Amino acid sequence: MSITANLRRLRTEFPDNVSLIAVSKYQPVESLRQAYDAGQRLFGENRVQELVVKQAQLPSDVEWHFIGTLQTNKVKLIVPFVHTIHSIDSLNLLREVDRQACKHNRVIRILLQLHLARESTKHGLFPDECLALLRVFRPEEYPFVRIDGLMCIASFTDDTECVRQEFRRLRTLFDTCRSDFFPHAPHFRHLSMGMSHDYPIALGEGTTMLRIGTAIFGTRL
Ligand SMILES: *Cc1c(COP(=O)(O)O)cnc(C)c1O
Repeated sequence: MSITANLRRLRTEFPDNVSLIAVSKYQPVESLRQAYDAGQRLFGENRVQELVVKQAQLPSDVEWHFIGTLQTNKVKLIVPFVHTIHSIDSLNLLREVDRQACKHNRVIRILLQLHLARESTKHGLFPDECLALLRVFRPEEYPFVRIDGLMCIASFTDDTECVRQEFRRLRTLFDTCRSDFFPHAPHFRHLSMGMSHDYPIALGEGTTMLRIGTAIFGTRL
């Protein structure tokens, strides 16, 4: 199946209020161009260097989402253009995004990444750490970041019930965070969850952002 056909098929599977982020990591720029020509505008990358190189080669109306582990010393390379960072896992990293974004007078949207999977290799905040961060977070101290929601990567398993439970836990935590910390902040509305193998489950649990790579572009090089 072609990239165009994959995108067309995927778009029939969920409503318009769910965003589709085409995860183009390790894919050649030519593949991103094909997706762009098919109307795709949201792209996700997980490595800073690759993102910087690709960003320079695609039209400026692409909305770039950073979804990988981010080191504080690399934040400055992506803040000039990145739209949303899905992988904020500490107040320290959040602070650095704010500091760098200030220099460009841009507000960067961020999501807090949660660690809900069974694998210890996954990154992110544990739920109690997330709540602790939000308890000390003062929006007026960080005018150049905006927390738009939560993100997680589910366990990599065929056990659909396990994956469903993880997505459900993110949803429940999201509801708690919204009512406790963002009651008057309508921008706090995103749940970034669901990849190629588990997006149907994520749709059932209320995702608003799907991050899909292989189901669009095929297997990575
Ligand atoms: C690679 C990646 C994806 C997409 O994975 P696919 O299985 O190719 O859809 C989604 N989210 C993150 C954080 C990733 O690193």
